[in-house]
Amino acid sequence: MDLFDLSDRVALVTGGNGGIGFGMAEGLAAAGAAVMIAGRDESKNEAAIRALRQAGAKAESVPVDVADEMSCRNMVAATVATLGRLDILVNNAGIGGGKRPEEFALSEWNAILATNLTGVFLTAQAAYPEMKRLGGGKIINIGSMFSVFGGPFVAAYGASKGGVVQLTKSLATAWAADNIQVNAVLPGWIDTDLTRRARGRVPDLYENVLRRTPAGRWGTPRDLAGIAVFLASTGSDFITGATIAVDGGFAIQG
Ligand code: NDP
Repeated sequence: MDLFDLSDRVALVTGGNGGIGFGMAEGLAAAGAAVMIAGRDESKNEAAIRALRQAGAKAESVPVDVADEMSCRNMVAATVATLGRLDILVNNAGIGGGKRPEEFALSEWNAILATNLTGVFLTAQAAYPEMKRLGGGKIINIGSMFSVFGGPFVAAYGASKGGVVQLTKSLATAWAADNIQVNAVLPGWIDTDLTRRARGRVPDLYENVLRRTPAGRWGTPRDLAGIAVFLASTGSDFITGATIAVDGGFAIQG
């Protein structure tokens, strides 16, 4: 018995064309899954599937805006049409947007909530009928340290990511009887385009993260590969509604 073998499974990774999503996609592919990469930028989608195919994986891509309901439904339909089924959904697409609360325009607030929180809901809702039909499935939602902590520049981002954790618990209870496990991963500080932009805005961010992280380093997208495989595999069949930090100890540092 190989608890972590994902052969014959199909995984859909939103925001899988770069950063954390690509790190998770690489892990899922290495464990045997066929992977559908979904993001807005089709050239980034193409580059990601080229890299996965070069590593021997079966990979396809579909354009999506997760803030749009029809786009989410089309993405799931395209996954099933192209790869035959949908067993694993990674809700990773997300945007930042650091501003003090008193400076947020409503449109900016809405855009962050729409992508980071409503997008998770819409995509999970679109995936549910296919997972139910298959007799089970795995949904992995990406939160953040700001699912737990606050900060002067993360009113919208933190609200969206706190919401992801609560949404995860509700989906987990609703769909447990369908053998669908829904869990949340909270990455610590990972070196990606998103955090490189933040480092451009926030002086000393790089050094402050190093100082605060017991592991003594920033994470890399590949640090998220293992948790993706675990939560996508039968090895985690009795884990649902959980929130798991992958943060080099950031959250437990006093
Ligand atoms: P990146 O900016 O590198 O990646 C974000 C991904 O999301 C891209 O693939 C982007 O693709 C996609 N995306 C953004 N908006 C949409 C949309 N509306 N519809 C579909 N796809 C979208 O960031 P990270 O890899 O750092 O972030 C990935 C996730 O991890 C996010 O949810 C983020 O909040 C979370 N996270 C990141 C941390 C970090 O330290 N890096 C820490 C904690 C959480 P495209 O532009 O082509 O649409």
